[in-house]
Amino acid sequence: MKPFEQLTIRGQIRRLNNAATTCHDCGQKYGVYSVGCSSTWSGKCNVCGKNKRVTETRDYGYFYKTIRDLKSQLNSK
Ligand SMILES: [Zn+2]
Repeated sequence: MKPFEQLTIRGQIRRLNNAATTCHDCGQKYGVYSVGCSSTWSGKCNVCGKNKRVTETRDYGYFYKTIRDLKSQLNSK
């Protein structure tokens, strides 16, 4: 799995859209934490591809904020 930062903007949008799980590092980086009590488990982060403690991307607003920013970068080109 390619590191997230090396993907094209379209690739980054696709990965964030398709991700079902995220580790807290990626969640903090690309999303906004929105839930008071979320469950975590050991699994594969769908964003960075590493095995660590993960949670649902829903808990980070489905990365809505970053996806919107990336789309506006696409549109401004
Ligand atoms: Zn991650």
